Amino acid sequence: MTIAESKFDETIDKTKFKDLKVIEHFMGVEGEGISTGSRTIFVRFAGCSVKCKHCDTPESWKNGVMRFSSHNPLDLAKEIAEKYLNTSGHRCSRVSITGGNPVEQDTDSMLVFMAALRAQGLYINMEHPGIFFDYAAERRILDQVDFLSFDIKSPSAFTHTVEEHTVYTNQHIGKLCGILQSGKLGQVKMVIANTADLEFARQTVSTLFHLHGFNKIPFILMPCNPKKAYNDLAPTSVKLITDALVTDQFPPNTRMGIQMHKAFGID
Ligand code: SF4
Repeated sequence: MTIAESKFDETIDKTKFKDLKVIEHFMGVEGEGISTGSRTIFVRFAGCSVKCKHCDTPESWKNGVMRFSSHNPLDLAKEIAEKYLNTSGHRCSRVSITGGNPVEQDTDSMLVFMAALRAQGLYINMEHPGIFFDYAAERRILDQVDFLSFDIKSPSAFTHTVEEHTVYTNQHIGKLCGILQSGKLGQVKMVIANTADLEFARQTVSTLFHLHGFNKIPFILMPCNPKKAYNDLAPTSVKLITDALVTDQFPPNTRMGIQMHKAFGID
């Protein structure tokens, strides 16, 4: 299909939709999770209420103050198709919608944007922090995603105590499970910086595996990499994860995953 033949519906009233706040979009290589190394179109949206300590896009937090550009959802999908989906070679088929926290955008506008991307034959991955601020609205978006990548925040990401963090996260796990139980494909990732993170991961994975029966969804433990360089990959984190895996502390669908984009300094 050429761009001229593409299925952007020009009859839709664009004024019905709020603008989406976009930090950037670019063609890159997936850096983490089971699709690591895959060519991917990344679309990064502004705004996130989670505010992790080791966030790699803190400029996305202050919705309305940070650098972003506003786009009508249909115009944004068209711009992406025209820029990245050439018809002469092997076309990219995967888009990752990320942030910030992309579900904090206007719900209807995000749904229209995703429908327009899917009309171009794109497979949609979405990154989500596993913490919900407006479950009903977020679920409308997440139900339309092809692959859900839950990046559950470990205690080291927060300023809460470990106990407060566990209580906080447990409030959200049931919601996350509800989405995955609908048959949605996905993965669950966690950064491990210290023993408290590892213990949290052990409890979380145990809940997902034993209580909710998720024995196929990949659980990915990612060593902390604070300095964004391969040689600075925290050896303590790697050893913690390795020791836990080889001593059978996690179910078989658990693996270690390096954040390649940080390790090699690529997008
Ligand atoms: S959820 Fe992601 S974008 Fe939001 S603060 Fe945490 S790392 Fe940053």
